[in-house]
Amino acid sequence: MLKLKNLSFLQISALNFLLGFGSTMNAQDKSPWQGKACAVSLTYDDALNVHLDNAIPLLDSLGLKGTFYLSGYFPAFRARVADWKAVADKGHELGNHTLFHPCTGKLPGREWVPPDYDLGNYTMQRLLDEIRMANTLLEALDSKTQRTFAYPCGDMKIGDSSYVDKIRNDFVAARGVKSEMSRINEIDLFNVGAYMINGQSGAELIDLVKQAIKSNALLVFLFHGVGGEHSLNVSLSAHRELLLFLKQNEKDIWTAPFVDIAEYVRQYNRGSR
Ligand SMILES: [Zn+2]
Repeated sequence: MLKLKNLSFLQISALNFLLGFGSTMNAQDKSPWQGKACAVSLTYDDALNVHLDNAIPLLDSLGLKGTFYLSGYFPAFRARVADWKAVADKGHELGNHTLFHPCTGKLPGREWVPPDYDLGNYTMQRLLDEIRMANTLLEALDSKTQRTFAYPCGDMKIGDSSYVDKIRNDFVAARGVKSEMSRINEIDLFNVGAYMINGQSGAELIDLVKQAIKSNALLVFLFHGVGGEHSLNVSLSAHRELLLFLKQNEKDIWTAPFVDIAEYVRQYNRGSR
């Protein structure tokens, strides 16, 4: 019989590896996220003024980093390019949300989609060109070649053809819109779940984080308006309560730009499989 208590940690690790216990151990890992219980990514869509004026100053004052999914043609991107560059300089991620934000118009509630930017009127090549051109635009601001993507409206298809597989070489990961949080070994990096926030209280947002801590999951918040400017909106006070909670509990919560978390997931799962 082996006397396990006489073995060093290194020997036990080697033994586990030889016996193939590695993946089981990771599944039970209580702090898989840089030694923390969960990971949280704060993502903000559609290049709004309120991101620059409300969200960034608060994030910066707490030393937290977010991800901003920018569409190059949106008014507050074009009017404030230097401000977005400054956002990147402070360590936030500028994420790709295409140039023109094409969505499928032929769906209930999508009457607002202009025919010129209806995904149903796009060819696959036009969409891929647009996405890659948005990467070039963002690289001109932040000099980065690694970033993530967010599907406009959560749409992943032109008609019946998915474009998910066609952008795998262009990004570290892509954020979807399914309201779900996943454990590190269960994440689909090109359809990562995210909670679209609209009107929740600070306590409700914090409850999601507590759930993530308990289940050792990745939790992605998807914000549009922060204190206004969009029909999907979080109040300034709810947003502030959430960010303060993340800061006060940083020993348990790894808050980081989506690209950093996605890269970590990729390496973690490569190492353990
Ligand atoms: Zn959007």
